[in-house]
Amino acid sequence: MNRIALITGGGRGIGTATARHLARQGYQLCINYRHDRGSAEALVAEIRAQHSVPCIAVQADVSVEAEVMRLFDEMDLRLGPITHLVNNAGILQPQMRVLEMSAERINKTLTTNVTSYFLCCREAVRRMVPGCAIVNVSSAAARLGSAGEYVDYAASKGAIDVLTKGLSLEVAAQGIRVNGVRPGFIHTDMHADGGEPGRVERVKGNIPLLRGGQPAEVAAAIAWLLSDEASYATGTFIDVAGGR
Ligand code: NAP
Repeated sequence: MNRIALITGGGRGIGTATARHLARQGYQLCINYRHDRGSAEALVAEIRAQHSVPCIAVQADVSVEAEVMRLFDEMDLRLGPITHLVNNAGILQPQMRVLEMSAERINKTLTTNVTSYFLCCREAVRRMVPGCAIVNVSSAAARLGSAGEYVDYAASKGAIDVLTKGLSLEVAAQGIRVNGVRPGFIHTDMHADGGEPGRVERVKGNIPLLRGGQPAEVAAAIAWLLSDEASYATGTFIDVAGGR
């Protein structure tokens, strides 16, 4: 099978590390981004130069249904039908307690982190054949709750775990696998968006392995679950969280 993968939010952080890992394995890649065209285009140029695999960048806000439809149409046209999906795009908003959260903030978290995964899963499954696979990037927050910081974010990732389980059962008989990866504290720019760039360093003493994780360590787990080596794994999760 020609492996054609979409990575949502692929222009930085865990998405970029996953793109590099899959490119090394010979996947054709669609890198989706929302705002940062420069980073996505630079990644495409790097991958084309180093691995000579077809690789494109497509702008789309994956929380918007019409943009998801356009993203998949463009992928169909330029690469062919998707075989592997990495649902990775996500946001973290400034730290606050639940008591302070507006409906606007909660809805933004849920549409970006949950609706987008549903829509991309739907469009992917419509195109997928036996042997295809989906990995949803969740978070250890789904188990831990993120009290005092981002309970809305943690709840959105809890929803992703349920989506992963439920969809895996719906499509198992079609030979499509759906799994999740739950990263812990990983060194990316996401924490700055949440208002605390040094967050991973602050909490590392509470992580059993006593350090934050690197995006490449998460990418390796995503790549394994996508691969045929994980051919009997579906509806399951890998925690990449340093023991938390
Ligand atoms: P990141 O560095 O902040 O990157 C997130 C990416 O998502 C950005 O490239 C951003 O694109 C994209 N994005 C956000 N909203 C989007 C939308 N509506 N449509 C399309 N793209 C969108 O984050 P990360 O740390 O790599 O996280 C990746 C995934 O891992 C997320 O699902 C996150 O929840 C999860 N995770 C991260 C950690 C961690 O500690 N870093 C821990 C657990 C789970 P633009 O920049 O172009 O807007």
